[in-house]
Amino acid sequence: MNKTKADPKGNTIKNTLDTLTSRSRTPKVVYVLLLLLYIAANFITSTSANSNQTINLAGLSFSAYSFAGVFSSLGNICVIFLTVYCGKPGYITSLVLLLFQIPVILRGIVMNHNYNSLPGVFGNILAIIAVTIIYFNNRSLTNYQNRLRDQAVTDRLTELPNRFACTELVGDLIKRNTRFVLVSIDLNGFKSINDTMGFNTGNEVLRQIASRWKTIADTGLSGTLDFITRVSGDEFVLIIRGYDSETDILNTIQHYEAVLGNRLTIDDCDFYITASFGYAEFPTDTKDVDSLFTYADAAMTEIKRAHSSNHVMRFSTELLKMERTIEIENKIREALEHDTVFFQLQPQFDMSHKLRGFEALARMRDENGKIISPGEFIPVAEKVGLIDKVDAAVFQKSGAFFGDLLRRSGADISLSINISVRHLMKNDFLDEIRSLLRNTGIPPQQLEIEITESIMIDSAEKALQCINEIRSMGIMVAIDDFGTGYSSLSYLNNFPANLLKIDKSFIDKMNTSDSSKQYVAAIISIGHIMGFDVISEGVETEDQLATLNSIGCDYIQGFIWGRPLPQEEAEKLVMASVQTQD
Ligand code: C2E
Ligand code: MG
Ligand code: MG
Repeated sequence: MNKTKADPKGNTIKNTLDTLTSRSRTPKVVYVLLLLLYIAANFITSTSANSNQTINLAGLSFSAYSFAGVFSSLGNICVIFLTVYCGKPGYITSLVLLLFQIPVILRGIVMNHNYNSLPGVFGNILAIIAVTIIYFNNRSLTNYQNRLRDQAVTDRLTELPNRFACTELVGDLIKRNTRFVLVSIDLNGFKSINDTMGFNTGNEVLRQIASRWKTIADTGLSGTLDFITRVSGDEFVLIIRGYDSETDILNTIQHYEAVLGNRLTIDDCDFYITASFGYAEFPTDTKDVDSLFTYADAAMTEIKRAHSSNHVMRFSTELLKMERTIEIENKIREALEHDTVFFQLQPQFDMSHKLRGFEALARMRDENGKIISPGEFIPVAEKVGLIDKVDAAVFQKSGAFFGDLLRRSGADISLSINISVRHLMKNDFLDEIRSLLRNTGIPPQQLEIEITESIMIDSAEKALQCINEIRSMGIMVAIDDFGTGYSSLSYLNNFPANLLKIDKSFIDKMNTSDSSKQYVAAIISIGHIMGFDVISEGVETEDQLATLNSIGCDYIQGFIWGRPLPQEEAEKLVMASVQTQD
């Protein structure tokens, strides 16, 4: 894992950007090779220019000095390449070499009276002109490219690096496996400055804050290596490297928060700004770029929402659950407001496949029409106090449909409704049940209330009173998910229920070992001893069905004989069952 220590002298934002966006430099070895090639070419040029020998090549004979031009051109190519690929050092080297050569050639001419070398002097002068033009042309092109690059990575308003630069740096650090922290920053109450004082003031606020933050990052004041960027509106991202501990991270963030404490004066108005900081660390919290931004944002949103005096929060997995909870809560509120909570009916049968009745199960869709599982939204509705409304919606809608179906079919079947403990404990719960019976016309003995085993443990006295009341009205009571709680046998013995619903988890395991099968058999026996009927939930296979038959189960509910159905399908099933009986 790479670790970068802060270096206050050189690690400015600009330097980081330069390193990030500059083209890769030509390796030094190219420079050395070109230099050696140039020296070799010149050595051969001058040796051959002063030689009277002839050379035989493919049967033809050449005088050695006729090769001088070829090697002289090779030397010129070397200096051009040096200028093009090795920047300023390459250009200066070329100039020195070319200039140095001129007196050497002239000395040869004067000493040896060999005027064959004279064109070489003009060749060198032309080469000097050529490399100078190439160098300056290349330089202006590079400057232009740098300007374009600066514009692409800079936020115009604040002159901080922008979102693009931010994601580039994050991507680069991840690629190089460098430990860093990504801090998502959002100014608090910035919208109201914009709304009340206008955009110009808002922009000036952003500029001044950005300038304070840039100074910290550029001077290395925080002791870590920082890179601050503006990603949009009043959102900034700070990338911190070169820290040793969590304390270092918090200390750095503290520096950025502290400069906000100083008053901002714009057009004679004073502003005191605060910001919310949420952060996540690579690779500890996640190794994925997108998740890193999401996590830091989640922490920032949470600390903003909390309205606490502390404005800094680190990401934790708990936050994701909270985010999902808030998202689901909003969906439940929306569904209740638009009355889009609906229900499906899952059939229950006796062991001879005769219809016993249906369990009403709540259903909800998100804005894209995708079903959200009750396993997800029911616990949230319970937590945020919306469960009685969800229950009531399912309650009333399925009750209205079922009452009507009973009148039309005359079937002797029951409707089971799930009730959460919070709902049951409400003072007006019994009134709700009474009005349901009245409005729907369902006979009480054909209505069943399902309560989970945990109700019996958590809320003993009041729940028991309420359940007794329900029973005295003639309504049936089922203990749902039986086996998952810890109710004692003596308590169960006094509980006024009619039906035990064995939880699916036991049915799943039932055929995997003899002891699991014995366990289910024991629950059924105990249920019977206490005077309850027993229904098994989640029966999916013929094997399970056969076992349940053999150990005396009374009813089954499961995909093997029926999934949760929409109203029309449930109605067809009822009508078919009535006809069979006729
Ligand atoms: P539950 O009351 O134990 O309902 C039975 C659950 O098991 C249902 O899941 C049903 O679809 C599923 N199930 C039944 N047979 C099978 C099977 O053979 N295989 C499998 N894999 N699953 C089977 P669902 O509809 O997702 O409901 C989950 C839980 O949500 C319910 O468990 C109940 O506790 C709660 N719930 C559903 N509707 C309501 C409601 O209106 N009010 C309240 N308070 N809770 C509800
Ligand atoms: Mg149930
Ligand atoms: Mg259940």
